[in-house]
Amino acid sequence: MALTRAEIRQLLDDFEMGPSRALGQNFLCDAGMVDKIVRLARVGPGDHVIEIGPGLGSLTLGLCQTGVAVVAVEIDRYLLAPLRQTVGAYERSGQLTIINDDAMTLDWSRVIEPGIEYSVVANLPYNIATPLILDLLADQPALKRWVVMVQREAGERLVAQPGSKTYGIPSVLLAYWAEARLVGSVPAGLFFPRPKVESVLVMIERRGDSRVPGEFDRLARLVRTTFGQRRKMLRRSLSGVMTVQAMEAVGIDPTARPEQLSIDDWIRLATVTA
Ligand code: SAM
Repeated sequence: MALTRAEIRQLLDDFEMGPSRALGQNFLCDAGMVDKIVRLARVGPGDHVIEIGPGLGSLTLGLCQTGVAVVAVEIDRYLLAPLRQTVGAYERSGQLTIINDDAMTLDWSRVIEPGIEYSVVANLPYNIATPLILDLLADQPALKRWVVMVQREAGERLVAQPGSKTYGIPSVLLAYWAEARLVGSVPAGLFFPRPKVESVLVMIERRGDSRVPGEFDRLARLVRTTFGQRRKMLRRSLSGVMTVQAMEAVGIDPTARPEQLSIDDWIRLATVTA
């Protein structure tokens, strides 16, 4: 079950509002796509989901129908009344919690309960999708599995592997925390209003291994420095940071360019600056 295009138009009319472009409000109006996202999320009773940007509640409805507990974070207070018209019954029963806040600045300790693991399932606003995913991966270890819809270009960059043109800063930073892959395409025609861009579904699974404190910050600095001068060999772009001998000592070819390094290479390189 999802809201149809006619229901979305009607809700917006009834509440005398229009979709905000600045907040990336393109509402999903395709029951088949909602079902697909919910199936990929593999959640049910006893599980916990965080949805960022529930909008008018298309995906929220599909999630709640599985019996999963949902916390939905929506920045736009004008959407709260129509959202409650769609999913208010789940909120009243205690299965759904709606938080009116900005997901980028929210105090996540208000949402994340100690000892509980969460999935993130969301049709993310385009302008914040990549920084939000990377920030939450770094800061909120309780968020384990993600099925998120993002703009195609952003999704391709997040999942890119070494050697590909799209492999860059977001690909490496994500790979430090998790494995990601594309699990579907979402044509623009499935939204109201229709966006100018195509979307994709990205599945992200957090790695189980523990991380060394401080390692990520060192790695991120190296990644930003080197990809900022993408065409240069590492020995040039990192000349002020480490010696050629130090690179070689951890098995990194100083004549390599940043797009050739795997996540394991980056982790070894980060130990040099420790
Ligand atoms: N989930 C709905 C759907 O699929 O129809 C709406 C998705 S729409 C692409 C993105 C939603 O994120 C909008 O409801 C928008 O208001 C909300 N949003 C935008 N920026 C946000 C932020 N910083 N924090 C929380 N929600 C945000």
